[in-house]
Amino acid sequence: MNLSKVTVTNIRDAAKCLRYFILTKKYNLKPNFKLHTNALLIGNTVHNLIDFFVKDIKQDKPFYNEIEIISKSGVNSQNKILIIKIVKDHFFKIYKPVLNKLMKRSIQNWVILRIWECINEVSRVFSDLIYNAIEKYHNIKYVQNIFRYSERNFEEEIKILDTKIKLTGKLDSLIFDISKNEILIFEFKTGLNEGFPYDIIQIALYSYLLQKQSGINCSVKILYLGQDKVKEIELSPNLVELNLNNAFKIIEDMVKFHDRDEIPPKKQLEHICSFCWLKNKCDTIN
Ligand code: SF4
Repeated sequence: MNLSKVTVTNIRDAAKCLRYFILTKKYNLKPNFKLHTNALLIGNTVHNLIDFFVKDIKQDKPFYNEIEIISKSGVNSQNKILIIKIVKDHFFKIYKPVLNKLMKRSIQNWVILRIWECINEVSRVFSDLIYNAIEKYHNIKYVQNIFRYSERNFEEEIKILDTKIKLTGKLDSLIFDISKNEILIFEFKTGLNEGFPYDIIQIALYSYLLQKQSGINCSVKILYLGQDKVKEIELSPNLVELNLNNAFKIIEDMVKFHDRDEIPPKKQLEHICSFCWLKNKCDTIN
């Protein structure tokens, strides 16, 4: 097995169960079924809508013209509401054709509702960033800078125990908070926050790698898209740092077991083993 290139998702998997990571790598195992179709649909649709939105407003003068008119009349609560409306209207313009396609596929109503709730949350975050930029700089060109980082794939080399590893990953959404001069990593997770302990390890790594590449501080928000509600969690810098240390310890363990060609012992992981698609194979291996 080759450990020269690992994904941040691999590290999240290893945080849950190191044995799972080593078994899937050693025997090149992949699940032969698709998990949570609705959850995937929500996640993918929201990602695509944000990508379309960012691409669209790069070329959309009317969007910035409308914001500029508001910025000239000063910053106040009324203007804040208008900014939210402009952002939401713009999202809705993009969402409408997507919604028509979803309706034709007879997608369940709660899925459509959850997508729109998520877009509402994203609109609120985007609007706050726009409002804060106007409040600080009174100049539309600073607002345009909010959406300047749209590249979400990354690759970065790190060295652990004399082993060079290429870490790769794909971020959900990357926005520049110009009023604080920091990058905002905005991650979407399907389900409620049951995966939070592992999600923060993944996101702490994203934050570290992005900071290393760009030289700009990062802040982090996670949006959980549950079946009944959407929940937003903002991570403190201390929590990110703590989890970054955990992430490096996990990578060290991955390297140690890989280099010794060993399989970690089986554990009885409550709430994890019973849902693990690898359970039958895992039970047959010492
Ligand atoms: S069954 Fe449990 S111990 Fe085995 S790989 Fe899956 S999560 Fe890990």
